[in-house]
Amino acid sequence: MLPDDIAPPDAIAYLNGELVPLKDARVSVLDRGFIFGDGVYEVIPVYNRIPHRLAGHLARLRGSLAAIGIQNPHDDAQWEALFRQTIARNPHEDQALYLQVTRGIAKRDHAFPAGATPTVFVMCNKLVTPSEQAIAEGVKAMTFPDNRWLRCDIKSTSLLPNILLRQAAVAQGCAEAVMLRDGLLTEGAASNIFVVKNGVLLTPPKSHLILPGITYDVVLDLAGRAGLPVELRAVSEAEVHAADEIWLTSSTREVLAITTLDNKPVGSGKPGPVFRSMHALFQQDKRSGAHR
Ligand code: PMP
Repeated sequence: MLPDDIAPPDAIAYLNGELVPLKDARVSVLDRGFIFGDGVYEVIPVYNRIPHRLAGHLARLRGSLAAIGIQNPHDDAQWEALFRQTIARNPHEDQALYLQVTRGIAKRDHAFPAGATPTVFVMCNKLVTPSEQAIAEGVKAMTFPDNRWLRCDIKSTSLLPNILLRQAAVAQGCAEAVMLRDGLLTEGAASNIFVVKNGVLLTPPKSHLILPGITYDVVLDLAGRAGLPVELRAVSEAEVHAADEIWLTSSTREVLAITTLDNKPVGSGKPGPVFRSMHALFQQDKRSGAHR
């Protein structure tokens, strides 16, 4: 029996067409998600029971599934319907909807099995966003070499490199690992990274080296509407270390300032003015219900 802090008694999950208590949801040990990490996932923030930027998440899911050769088990309307059912059966107004599709159950063999049915799992946890203190003071981060594969654009459940990097950062009292490949910024272990220098917002363009973050899109959209100058280009390690501000973005951490990098203050060592205005814009946007 799973303890309540892992699977709260009132949490309801969706598994292969059924709504079941999360505590009772079971997948075979022969599922390729378990054996190989052969699957993809999404995390969708749900505000006031409405999935945020749903179209963007479903488009990224389609891209991830196509990239690994799993046929999308549902069209967008079916996904939306099953999300709504699952959200409705869970207690919190704001939820983090986690969805995973694996290649399904098969005899263990690396090559794709013939005729396996994808496993579809959805759970809705309470959405936990950064604390007031983290927003007011920012968080610490460390840089690490990006030692992941070259298809970081796929939202794969095979996350060992990201896990090891995040753990190395946490072991040093940090909230995130900021990754550099060939002297250039890529992204965080579970976030995208933005840099502000002389009032200009810099971030790497989308490529196979980073996950196309939905929050990344939100921030670029809000920056465009606010008239904030943006440059999508390679950002060097030196520029990261000389930044006035550094932010991380993700669906659950939203926009958060990194105020200490590699044990040194970033800019003033406090969340900067550009961060504060972006954070305010983000909070308005997420409650507006404008991006269903
Ligand atoms: N990059 C990586 C490696 C991530 O794991 C995440 C969060 N899943 C992100 C970026 C941010 O993506 P999103 O804004 O869609 O949460």
